[in-house]
Amino acid sequence: MQGKIVKGIAGFYYVHVAESGIYECKAKGAFRNQKVKPLVGDNVRLEVLDEEQKKGNIEEILPRKNELIRPAVANIDQALVIFAAAKPKPNFNLLDRFLILMQYQKVPAVVCFNKQDMVDAEELQLLKNTYESAGYQVIFTSAAKEEGIQAVRDLLKGKTTTVAGPSGVGKSSLINLLSPEAEMETGDISRKIERGKHTTRHSELFALDENTFICDTPGFSSIYLPEMEKEELGIYFPEIAEYEPFCRFQGCAHIHEPGCGVKEALEEKKISPIRYDNYKLLYEELKDKRRY
Ligand code: GDP
Ligand code: ZN
Repeated sequence: MQGKIVKGIAGFYYVHVAESGIYECKAKGAFRNQKVKPLVGDNVRLEVLDEEQKKGNIEEILPRKNELIRPAVANIDQALVIFAAAKPKPNFNLLDRFLILMQYQKVPAVVCFNKQDMVDAEELQLLKNTYESAGYQVIFTSAAKEEGIQAVRDLLKGKTTTVAGPSGVGKSSLINLLSPEAEMETGDISRKIERGKHTTRHSELFALDENTFICDTPGFSSIYLPEMEKEELGIYFPEIAEYEPFCRFQGCAHIHEPGCGVKEALEEKKISPIRYDNYKLLYEELKDKRRY
């Protein structure tokens, strides 16, 4: 039988098997020779020991598509990063750091601005332009007014998505709207409460349907840049990478150089000043780091 590890606690792995439920498994047998530790998100082959009690053994970890460090999960298809359009105001620097971190881990990211009910159309347009011109898909939601929820469902469908964002942006409200049926089952209510309370760093996947999973990560308030040289930063700003070939000098930092294609694009409003300013700030940060 095949399934997906959705949770790991104290040597037990909880394996979700489509149409069958969740099996409590130990990692035993032949697979131990693989010398890899099972991760949440791993697709595994399991042997059922007790169908009634839903107990089994993990026999093999199937090849991983990828492996994230933060959060520690395998086989993530995409990241959905949620910020609020207002209250709290979006921290673009934090958002850009998150996007860099995901690109660094080769995980495509989609940006969701929740609380769209709290700002006017002009402000929404600015948010949309800023991140669409950077090459990201942008969606807007209001968990309070239940707007945009179907678009989120469509985006998640059939995939395993890590859902992240600072606290207070409405991530829990949004996630709770995604499986309203499940909410009515008592088992799921206790699971929800558990999720609300947990402050540990354990990753856990929640099945929205048989092949749709989300990894709800704790709210973050800061993100370290991954290890890189300042010269590499431009790669992590897709719009900067796009205009870089138009720079006069090779190795252009796009800050003070003449004939810079990126600054030209900025003047022509093809690159957002919000993004460009963050590029400059992060560039300086990487520069400072090198002195130590
Ligand atoms: P989390 O910390 O990101 O999980 O945020 P919560 O889901 O706990 O929501 C934080 C606060 O924002 C709560 O008071 C919610 O009622 C409120 N909230 C969540 N979504 C929306 C929304 O779309 N619009 C408005 N106006 N308030 C929202
Ligand atoms: Zn340049």
